Formats: sequence, structure tokens, C-alpha cells
Amino acid sequence: MNQDQMLLEVRNLKTYFFLEEGTVHAIDGADFAIGRGEALGVVGESGCGKSVTGQSILRIVPYPGRVVEGEIIFYRYNKRPDGTEVQEAVNLTALDPQGEEIRSIRGGEIAMVFQEPMTSLSPVHTMGQQIMEAIILHQGVDKAEARRRAIDMLRRVGMPQPETTVDSYPHQMSGGMRQRGMIAMALSCSPSLLIADEPTTAIDVTTQAQILQLMRDLQEDLGMAIMFITHDLGVIAEMTKRVVVMYMGRVVESASVDDLYYDPKHPYTRALLNSIPRLGQQRAERLESIKGVVPDPYNLPPGCPFHPRCNSFMPGVCDVGDPMNIEVGPGHEVRCFLYNE
Ligand code: SF4
Repeated sequence: MNQDQMLLEVRNLKTYFFLEEGTVHAIDGADFAIGRGEALGVVGESGCGKSVTGQSILRIVPYPGRVVEGEIIFYRYNKRPDGTEVQEAVNLTALDPQGEEIRSIRGGEIAMVFQEPMTSLSPVHTMGQQIMEAIILHQGVDKAEARRRAIDMLRRVGMPQPETTVDSYPHQMSGGMRQRGMIAMALSCSPSLLIADEPTTAIDVTTQAQILQLMRDLQEDLGMAIMFITHDLGVIAEMTKRVVVMYMGRVVESASVDDLYYDPKHPYTRALLNSIPRLGQQRAERLESIKGVVPDPYNLPPGCPFHPRCNSFMPGVCDVGDPMNIEVGPGHEVRCFLYNE
């Protein structure tokens, strides 16, 4: 990716949780980048570190977790008076998580939507009040203008009767409406990056399809980038063009969606793909599931963390050394000893 089109760069990120039982390496040296206006998919089983990656970017990792190493660089594009742009790099890991700068980035330039809207919506404020608060905080407009923009955004996300719904409380809405409300709130400040963490997992299939379509349309209209976090490879194929696969807090493969689906390299990616139903597959055909279980986070296996579950395990190699990232094709990287010279 060209440096002048970079929006976010994550370098050797490590986020650990310090618990009485031991230290959990939730993210253990993750590297990836997102370009301006790009939709990137982040996929993996639960517990692979994908949600903590989103939290690390926004610096909202819950206690007792914290970013211990690495850098997250966010690129801003400021307009000069002559209309040209100048790139400014902000190291998010160097900011105070409670400080003013990250608070203005959070919800302003980078916004996040979650699987369960009630975790980020206040039950005692109307949807309109919550959207208006974000608009007033980040855009410095008066109340009347903020309300007008809130109604407009609710209309854009397909909320029924936005002039009335703006005064409704979250508990008066259906799950799909709450999800639309949360997306409206996230998009109300025109963020350059939206982090969407399993945003459609908890809602019915029809509403899920509508919300995915809505996010795709808004992404194109607003030219914003999306980091789409999910365990669902079908959703990734619909929403993104490039994908990173995470396992035990590391990126084990990154590729275009086409390369990943038609030419997966990492044994974990192959196993993930074999575990999803395919069009035309006989109902009676049993889906392959990934053998074994995700390792105990307090007691990681030595060498490649996938080796106890891997069909291509090489004794004396995979349980001894730690594989490095290798480029196997244009824009296609994999972290596995099978591809070492
Ligand atoms: Fe499997 Fe070895 Fe590759 Fe790990 S390094 S995924 S154990 S082949």
C-alpha cells in the first residue's frame, strides 16, 4: 500500500491482560494496515484477539488489559488553504487513554459499532440526545443544527419515521432499529475509520442483510474506511476486498478476499474455510470442524501456536521455532513454516 494513502498502520502490537491466574497475550505481535476508504476484514474464532485489536486502536482496552508494545499510527489528512492535502501521523499508543486527544479522535475520526448496541447506548437518553451529544462534542454546532443533523443521519440509516424516532429511548426500539441508531451515532461525525465489531451477529437474517447493505452504501458515499471484525467468512466476502486472519493474537495470513478464498495458504485459514457451508454442498455432507480446541491462554504451546491443531504439523520444526511472515504473492503474506525456503 502506498504510504500516501495509508490510514492506519498497526506494527508489532502487543496487548496483554494481567490476571491473577497469569498473563493472557490477547494480541501478540499483530501487524496490518488499512488504506483510506478501504474495507478490511479481520476474521478468526472467538478469543483470537480481533475485538481487543479494535479496543486497542481506540485505547479502550478494559482493565486489567493494556497495550504493552508496538505502535498504532493513525494518519490524518489536513487540507491546506490551496486545497492540497498534508498527511499527519499520530501514534495512538503514545496517547494517554483518558487524555483529550484520544477522546477527540474516538467517536470523531475513528468510530466503533458493537455487536450489542445496548453496551454503547445509554438507556436513560433518547436516541436523538445521544447522536446530538456526539455531533455537538465533535463538530461544535448548536443544538438546533445538531438535531437537524441527527434526524438526517437517522433517515440515511433507514430508520423509520426519523422525526419521531429521534425522541425514542433505546428500549422502545427493536434490535434492528437500535443497531441502525448506533450506526447513525457512529457515522454522525463522518469518521475516516469505522471499526465494526460483529455488528450484525445478534440480529435476524433479513435485518442483517439490510444493515450490511447500508454499511456498504455509506462506506462508498462517505469515502470512509471500515475495519470489519467478524468470525463469519461469508460476511467478509460481501463486505471487504482484503482480509487478515487472526489466530492467538497474531495475523497468520493476509490477502485479497479472492486469494484467501481460492488459494488459502495457512493451514488455519484452510481449516476455517472448510468449516463453512458452500453453495451446492449436499446437506448430508458433514462440515469439517477445526480439530482440537483453542489453547489455554495461560499456557501457550511452544513454537507455532497452531501446531497442536495443525494437519501439516512438522515435528521438530513447528513446535520449536516461531514462524515469521513470508510474502507468497503480491499482497499475500502468511506466517507458517510450510512456506520457508
Ligand atoms: Fe502448521 Fe507448522 Fe504452519 Fe504452524 S508453522 S501452521 S504448525 S505447518
